[in-house]
Amino acid sequence: MEENKVRRYKGRKKHVLLREIFAHILVMTIGIDNAENIGVYFILGGFFGLFASYIVLSILNAFMERTVLMIKYPTYDFYIFAFFIVIGLIGAIAFSLPVDYYKLTKCKQCNRDFAYKEDCKPDVKEITAKNGTTTKYITRTYKCSICGNKKTVHETEVREPISSADMV
Ligand SMILES: [Zn+2]
Repeated sequence: MEENKVRRYKGRKKHVLLREIFAHILVMTIGIDNAENIGVYFILGGFFGLFASYIVLSILNAFMERTVLMIKYPTYDFYIFAFFIVIGLIGAIAFSLPVDYYKLTKCKQCNRDFAYKEDCKPDVKEITAKNGTTTKYITRTYKCSICGNKKTVHETEVREPISSADMV
């Protein structure tokens, strides 16, 4: 019998300390709305820079090869690409993640900031398909530390088999 394997267990609570600290800093300094915009600009800027520099460098390299013949391909390109990747990551890690955390933890009922805390270990349902792909369905429960309002958040994680040894 070939069937998908299903496992159910209790997962781990999310590590949110850093997000929480950054979110507090953003609230106290530039405000959440500004932080959200800046985060988006950083990420878009990183993607745009990566794309634009790829085109410019490709043209430049083609030109150099034909004329100077001295400049070898990955000498400085790597640093330019890395620069834009870092720009995008800064936007995501320093701004977008804390902003998401802020929104997640603002209570729907009493409207307080940083109110929801993860109440108990999340329920995880893990399904491993015949081709080895594992899909995790995570249900987290959050409870407002001020008024006690509860909400559940569903997350899905998909993991492809790492090697053929992982196959069922
Ligand atoms: Zn509340």
